[in-house]
Amino acid sequence: MKTTQVTMPASKRIALVAHDHKKSELITWAQAHRGQLAGHQLFATGTTGNLLAKTLELPVEPLLSGPMGGDQQLGARIAEGEIDLLVFFWDPLDQMPHDPDVKALLRIAAVWNTPVACNQATADFLFSSDFLSAHYTRTVPDYQSYIDERTK
Ligand code: PGA
Repeated sequence: MKTTQVTMPASKRIALVAHDHKKSELITWAQAHRGQLAGHQLFATGTTGNLLAKTLELPVEPLLSGPMGGDQQLGARIAEGEIDLLVFFWDPLDQMPHDPDVKALLRIAAVWNTPVACNQATADFLFSSDFLSAHYTRTVPDYQSYIDERTK
């Protein structure tokens, strides 16, 4: 796979998602990082987004609720280059009706080399990084070469 590079802006488009038993953990984490989150554009699945907006009193664009298609919406945005960073507190101890969507979201984030935090410790590391509030150039698949190769 040929690759190319994209530069993320200093102000990031951050997606946040938490499964039900992880929501209070994400809310507590987000409150502790409210100052940093306020400098970025926030997106979230439906329930997570509404809870975050209410608690943080920050604008959060809510997509559909995860089991109703919200994870897939976020995956599409990642594939289209519209999300820079994903904080996804998924629950490793519970079965999800939308498990295929959860896996698909994690997969597409890996495809596009998107920074992902799946737990609080990793989210702390990401939010301690200088890259959070600076331009950052990351390597991504070269989609045009991919299509050219398959259609020649
Ligand atoms: P929710 O979706 O924020 O609407 O609860 C999260 C999920 O289950 O993926």
